[in-house]
This record gives sequence, structure tokens and C-alpha cells, in this order.
Amino acid sequence: MNIVIFGPPGAGKGTQSKFISKTFNLHQLSTGELLRSEIKNKTNLGVKISDTINAGELVPDNIVSDLIEKFISDKIYKNKLIFDGYPRNLNQAINLDNLLKRYDQKIDIVLKLQVSLETIIKRITDRQTQEKRADDNETVAIKRFKTYEKSTEPVIEHYRKSNLLKVINGEASIVEISAEISGLIKAI
Ligand code: ADP
Repeated sequence: MNIVIFGPPGAGKGTQSKFISKTFNLHQLSTGELLRSEIKNKTNLGVKISDTINAGELVPDNIVSDLIEKFISDKIYKNKLIFDGYPRNLNQAINLDNLLKRYDQKIDIVLKLQVSLETIIKRITDRQTQEKRADDNETVAIKRFKTYEKSTEPVIEHYRKSNLLKVINGEASIVEISAEISGLIKAI
């Protein structure tokens, strides 16, 4: 099974993806983590994208597409992926549909974590003290939320139309959200 998990920055996608990957033996494909690791390792790509990420904007579609295709095309991960942070705009959503089709796969469920801007700002500023992500400060967090509203929200409609979308209250506790997600996945 392949899962897409959606939500604004700070919604808890990473936390819930880790839970799902352990519970259902899937692989968490976090584009944000992959991109941050390029920056940390100072690769050519990392140097190229660090300003964009730290400004809270999206890196170019072709860069992220190349990164995810490596996983989709790898037999080890066939029908075992959680897309955490992809797609982030309509072009990426169409690209994901096409890539999965090419490798004889599909999306089985799309989970959307619904969280208010107020909660997001609080969570991101708390996370900043723990994880020290360069893009986790209030100004960049608001910019990332705006990028999400403008580019990523429209993708929700794409999945609503295909009947794959499940909306979850992301304001609940981590354990409650995990339980709800478990139930939804088991019902597939
Ligand atoms: P969050 O969802 O909390 O913002 P992520 O770790 O998912 O955190 O992403 C961090 C940053 O990485 C984004 O703000 C963006 O700059 C970049 N990024 C991640 N995924 C994508 C993507 N699919 N397309 C373009 N940029 C991306």
C-alpha cells in the first residue's frame, strides 16, 4: 500500500509517518528530510537549495521529482511508501500519479491533518528549541504556511475527486491521531 500524508508545516506529518511506517511496515519518504540531508552534507544540490528552503519556499519540482523517483523505481519499496511532504502542488500531484503508474503502483489513501495557524506557530516555535531546524522560526513558519495555503491546499481537491481523501483532526493528541489513522488504514 502507498500512502500520502498532507498537512501544513507543524501538523505532525513526520510524527505520524514514523508511527505508520513502524505499524504497517512501510517506508517513510520525507522530501523535507531528504532535502535537509543534502544541505547538511553540503552536496552541490544542497548548496543550490538551502536559500529556498530557509525562505520557506518550494524547491523546483524537477529536483524533488528526481529524488522521489529513486524510491518509486526501487523494487524494495514497491507499494511500501508513505509520501510525507510530496506532492506539494498540483504539478507534483500529477507527476506522482504518472510516476506511480509507470512503476505499476497507485495511491491507496490520502491522509490530511487539519490544524489551525495558531497551533502551527506554537508547535514550530517549540520544535525550534528541540531540533534547531533553520526554517523553524516564526517568520519562516508563517511563510511556509502561506506557501502551503497557496500551492498545497489546491492539491486536496485533486484527491477529494478521486475519493482517496480522509481528513483528520490534527489538533487531537498524538496517540489519538495515531489511533484514528490506524483505523482508517486497516479499513482499506
Ligand atoms: P514542513 O512540512 O514542516 O514545512 P518539510 O520537512 O516537509 O517541513 O519541508 C521543509 C521544506 O523542504 C519546505 O518548506 C520546502 O522548502 C522543502 N520541500 C519539502 N518537500 C518539498 C516538495 N515536495 N517540493 C518542493 N519543496 C519541498
